[in-house]
Amino acid sequence: MSATLQFGNGKSAKVQTGLFINNKFQPAADGKTFAVVNPTNGKEIAQVSEASAKDIDVAVKAAREAFNTVWGYNTPGKVRGQICMKLAELIEANVAELAAIESLDNGKAFSIASGFDIPEAAANFRYFGGWADKNHGKVMEVDGSKLCYTRHEPIGVCGQIIPWNFPFLMMAWKIAPALATGNTIVLKTAEQTPLSALKFAELIEQAGVPPGVINIVSGFGPVAGAAISKHMDIDKVAFTGSTLVGRSILSAAASSNLKKTTLELGGKSPNIVFNDADIDQAVSWSCFGINFNHGQTCCAGSRLYVQAGIYDQFQEKLLQKYKSVNVGDPFAEATFSGPQVSQLQFDRIMSYIDSGKQDGAKVLTGGARKGNEGYFIEPTIFTGVDPQSKIAREEIFGPVLVLQKFEDEADLLRIANDSIYGLAAAVFSRDITRALDTAHKLQAGTVWVNCYNQLFPNVPFGGFKSSGIGRELGEYALSNYTNVKSVICNLTAPAPL
Ligand code: NAD
Repeated sequence: MSATLQFGNGKSAKVQTGLFINNKFQPAADGKTFAVVNPTNGKEIAQVSEASAKDIDVAVKAAREAFNTVWGYNTPGKVRGQICMKLAELIEANVAELAAIESLDNGKAFSIASGFDIPEAAANFRYFGGWADKNHGKVMEVDGSKLCYTRHEPIGVCGQIIPWNFPFLMMAWKIAPALATGNTIVLKTAEQTPLSALKFAELIEQAGVPPGVINIVSGFGPVAGAAISKHMDIDKVAFTGSTLVGRSILSAAASSNLKKTTLELGGKSPNIVFNDADIDQAVSWSCFGINFNHGQTCCAGSRLYVQAGIYDQFQEKLLQKYKSVNVGDPFAEATFSGPQVSQLQFDRIMSYIDSGKQDGAKVLTGGARKGNEGYFIEPTIFTGVDPQSKIAREEIFGPVLVLQKFEDEADLLRIANDSIYGLAAAVFSRDITRALDTAHKLQAGTVWVNCYNQLFPNVPFGGFKSSGIGRELGEYALSNYTNVKSVICNLTAPAPL
């Protein structure tokens, strides 16, 4: 099974559309497929295999067999590292094609997919490849004549469930640390965006990854995703997506085999601009902070608090800046934002915009659909928002900004931290003491100072509160994929009894 994709830049590519298990593409056990849709026009671009619980079983068996025989304890870290590096090289050699697939499938601008998503995914494989032979345990001094040390061992078979907002990059965030640390993988892509991962699957054998080590399946959350989270032979599940589904995954993991669980969930991140900020820079970063990836970013700066002394000037400049957020064809050079990913997401965002209007907030700009085809939405700013209203409190996951004025610094922290979420936050100030003091008091896993949306493979990312459990990226991510074993070896101490 394959599909030929036609891109908006006149090029095309063929992708395999089966389930990738044991380094082979195969149809679903019951032969089912589902349609993948181009968000710029709502038209079908491919049919891909739809995994059921039966297919998840087959993939898990392949992953278990590979863990027991060729990967896990059987391949040294040095070799795992080399394979990660090779995957990085292959991704880099195919950036243009992978980025075009990502743009077609997800709707993001080709310039951003080719300049950020795909190269950043390669950087993740390189970074975690570097760790593969360096994730050492420690030697501990203990009483008596004994040798005591820890080993960081792979957990086993990892189920990974990823979202549609950064399909390729989220895949890399999940696969790279798991692979480097010796685990085997069953990864389910999001049903909206399975295509770039299927292209990646074609590179897996070329990189020297043995069959069964990385298995990639397309399918729906309540069926294939649920089968992963409750599977008795999956040792760990890693998830990125909504807080609602994160809860169901945690409870399925708890009621099955207590598999280790890491969750990267939603956010409603506060972005704070003090009177003493560099206004032009703060305006530009704030505009980027909410509109990057059409607002479909878990850490989007969706609550913007600007101090009263500069508020009017800031609002005026922000309105001007919004004119540079070009919404349109993902393959056009000038485009910054493409369409939202799906009809469902489009409808969800439009209903939040309607609820904002009904609750009496003022639309400063945007507030409507763009064009009459596809899922395009105008970048939207609300002012005069009731802090208790839905648009001020719930994750919208679209290009919708709530702009608020604040007077008092102490009160601001209470308001900024008054959220079930705690994923990210930002502070803009020229006074480093004020900026860092505020950064330390914000309840968020990442705080940006005088910037926004800056992520690096070696810097941990994850949430406080209902934004998640565990950290991805950086050295911290290694602990998501390793069990610590303590070995205590007696040298000469006699038995106590
Ligand atoms: P979702 O959480 O339903 O989907 C994310 C992934 O989880 C997909 O692969 C999906 O197939 C899978 N999934 C869904 N139900 C499942 C289940 N019962 N068991 C196991 N896996 C399941 O997200 P969505 O419906 O696509 O988007 C809804 C909202 O989620 C968005 O509006 C946004 O607020 C949030 N979201 C957050 C992120 C993030 O990066 N944190 C990403 C995507 C969506």
